[in-house]
Parts: sequence; structure tokens; C-alpha cells
Amino acid sequence: MGHHIIASDAVCIGFGPAGIALACVFEDAREQGHPLGRLDVRFLERAADTQWHRELLLAGTDINHHVFRDLVTPRNPRSRFSFAMYLKAKGRMFEFGLLGRPASRHEWSDYVAWVAAQVDACTHFNTPASDILPVIDKGRLQAVQVQTPHGVFSTRHLVLSSGSVAQVPERFAALLGPRVFHTSEFLTRLQAFSAVLPKRWLVIGSGQSASESVLELLDRDAGVQVHSVHRTAGFKLTQLGQFPNRVFGPDHVDYFHGLDAAARQQFLDYSRATNYAGIDPDESQKLFSLTYEDAIAGRSRLHTHGYHQVSDVQDLGDHYRVTLTDRFSQHSRTVEVDAIVLATGYQQHRVPPLLASLQPWLAADEQGGLLIDRDYRVATTGQCDVQLWVNGLSERSHGISDSQSFSMMALRAERIAHALHEAVAVPAPTVAWAQ
Ligand SMILES: Cc1cc2nc3c(=O)[nH]c(=O)nc-3n(C[C@H](O)[C@H](O)[C@H](O)COP(=O)(O)OP(=O)(O)OC[C@H]3O[C@@H](n4cnc5c(N)ncnc54)[C@H](O)[C@@H]3O)c2cc1C
Repeated sequence: MGHHIIASDAVCIGFGPAGIALACVFEDAREQGHPLGRLDVRFLERAADTQWHRELLLAGTDINHHVFRDLVTPRNPRSRFSFAMYLKAKGRMFEFGLLGRPASRHEWSDYVAWVAAQVDACTHFNTPASDILPVIDKGRLQAVQVQTPHGVFSTRHLVLSSGSVAQVPERFAALLGPRVFHTSEFLTRLQAFSAVLPKRWLVIGSGQSASESVLELLDRDAGVQVHSVHRTAGFKLTQLGQFPNRVFGPDHVDYFHGLDAAARQQFLDYSRATNYAGIDPDESQKLFSLTYEDAIAGRSRLHTHGYHQVSDVQDLGDHYRVTLTDRFSQHSRTVEVDAIVLATGYQQHRVPPLLASLQPWLAADEQGGLLIDRDYRVATTGQCDVQLWVNGLSERSHGISDSQSFSMMALRAERIAHALHEAVAVPAPTVAWAQ
């Protein structure tokens, strides 16, 4: 536990893309002499450095947003933290223009790391926030203390930029380990096998991380067999139409935020169905061609089980027996595998577990979730001088662009920064600063 207390205007937990985008707002403001730049903000990051989704930094993967939707451009196209500035600094402006394809995930991760290194933010790496404790004085919540292994960070203004969390189906929770893992641990787990990769794999999921895992496993070792399980017919394409993709724009956030809770939920389900769990046409082509060419060669490495779901898993010590049941015919089959990849996506908790100790001061909506205003501020209740914002954790109130996307990152950071500045400028009417 912490040895000393560091006080600041605000603490931001997480220095991934959302946290970095926020740091860029402050830095741009400093450069323009705007008072916003004078805020003293501490960024706490669990990882040792900045990399974007390092566990799926695989060869041949690319980004699925336009490069203008970087960490700053929609907010301030003149910012020196844009993707264009990155290309300029790296001397690849013209070559990038000739590429004729999206930026690779490697390049995007390099861009994010480049911004993280350029931006003058007070960042504490290797500093996971383990808990947030209330500081109560004369019955009022006066401040919070963020607990980390390197000290306690005390503040009245908290921004949660800690990202979505891995979604693990209940059936697999007890089996998690070196041979049953979520894609958020993909490369680390694969590397741990070193040269002896298990031969029989089960990959659950139909989205991008499922297709990437399947291709990577088959590519790594010619002897690998993959069972790929899908509730639907198999891998389907992501939504490519311009009109449905408008849900990732700022107008849509206004629209979505204006709906009542039930309509929001309905809309979210609808936009998830059209935008989620799909793969790029080139990946679909690769997977289908692979199966087809294998058939010509008289072998079979990829077994897709469409319309199936896992109905049972038995741990047999050195391998797993998995029962797959057809959703329509109810017929079952079993497969024996050595390892299981859960490409089952990410989720946002209604109330992030990190906020558990603050629950008495958090106003709740009908479903017990956080109430979040258009500026991403979390509604509080009772005697409370603390203000909180969620930066990338508000899909229930702001829609799909908040779940899994760079689209709104720059504009969202701008709103949060200005709301934060206002809150700091008008100090809470309390007596002493308790530590
Ligand atoms: C494989 C993959 C590919 C994707 N590709 C795209 C894409 O092409 N385009 C797109 O728009 N979106 C994409 N996404 C969606 C993705 O969510 C966003 O791109 C982006 O990463 C969200 O940024 P974030 O900062 O909100 O969350 P994250 O990237 O998850 O970052 C959160 C940060 O907070 C830190 N953290 C978490 N908890 C703590 C704690 N308790 N204490 C301290 N630090 C903590 C983490 O270490 C991490 O650095 C992809 C997602 C995945 C998984």
C-alpha cells in the first residue's frame, strides 16, 4: 500500500487512448495559453508503457476507423498530436498516401505510443489503481483517495479512462489459465507455450478477434487444428454501409443521449447487431480460401461449427472435451481440444468495480447503473464535493461510439476537460482539505 499522499486537481485512471486524448486537450490548451492548461492532472497507468491492445498486435491486422478519427483531429485539426503530424515526424507522409489501405494496427499502436511520449502529461506508469476510498469530513464526501502500490493519490475530481473489460462466459471462468484464455491475453499466453504450441484448439466467437486468433494459430504451426464455434452461420462481414455507420458520429451521441433508458437499451442492441461481431472482407476471404485450398490439398485444419454453442466443457487434465449443441436442431457433437481461446469480446459494467466504495454517493438509474450527463459527468447524490467523469465507459448513456471506438475520443476528451476545468475553478464549499 501507499506510503505518501499526492494531491492534485484531478486524477485520471488509465493512460490508454482515451486518457492520452484527454492529456492532449490540456497540452493544446497550455500551448495556446488557455487556463485549462494550468490544471494539475495526474494520470495513473497500470502498464509499464503505452501500447494499444498489445495482446492482439498481430501481423496483417489493420484499424477499422478513418485516420482522421485520431486522438485529436475532430477536436482540433491544428493539434501537433494528430496522425498527420506523426506521419510527418516519421517521414512517411507520401508513402502512407500510396499505401491504399488502412493503417495497420502496428502503425496505430506506434502512433498512440508516439503521442504518449510527446505529450507533456504527469503520468505514473506501473501504477494500477486498486481501490478508490472516500474521504469523509463532517458527513460530506470531501475527496477520494486512489490507492496504488506507489502511493495514494488524493483528489476531488476523478476521470475513469480504464477501458472496457474482457467478457468471459461463466462456464469458462473457473477454467481460466494457461490453456483457456480470453483474447485480451492472446500473445502472452501463446508466447508461454514457446516452440510447443498445442495442436487442437477451440476458438469461441465470430468477431474480429476470433478471426484474427484463428488465422494466427493456423499460421504459427502447420500441424494446428482449429474448431471455430459460431452462434450464427459463421464469420459474417462487419457493417460497411455509410448510413448505418453514422452511429459513430457526434450527432448520434446527442440523439442517443436524448432517449429514455428503455429506448437507449433497444437502440444499443440494434446498433450492436449491425456493427459488432463482424470481420473485414479481406479476413473473410482469407478464412474461406484457406478452407477451400485445404480441401483441394485433402486436409482440414479449420472446422467451423455454425449455429452451435458450447453446452458443456469437461476438463480431462491434459485436454478438454467440449460439447457443442446446434441451436436449431438441438443435436450435439463433442470435440476434444488442448486449448481454448475466448474471443468473446468486452463489456462495460453498469457501475465500474473500481467505484464500489463510492456507491453510497452515486445516483443510480432504473437499472442500477450510473447516471451520466452529456458531458460524461457521473451524477452524485447526498453530501458530495467529489465529481467524476467516465471517459470511454458510457455506452449505456452515449451509445455504441462509446463502447469500442476511436470515433468520439477527441470530442469526448474536450467535453470532459472543459467540465473538469469548470468544476476545479469553482471550488467546493467545504472547510478543510482532509488527507
Ligand atoms: C483488438 C482490438 C482492436 C480494436 N481496433 C479498433 C479500431 O481499429 N478502431 C476503433 O475505433 N476501435 C478499436 N478498438 C476499440 C478500442 O476499445 C479502442 O480503440 C480504444 O482502445 C479504447 O481506448 P481506451 O483508452 O478507452 O481503453 P483501453 O485501450 O482499454 O485503455 C485503457 C487503459 O487503462 C489502463 N487501466 C485499466 N485499469 C486500470 C487501473 N485500475 N489502474 C491504472 N490503469 C488502468 C489500461 O492498462 C489501459 O492502458 C479495438 C479494440 C480491440 C480489443
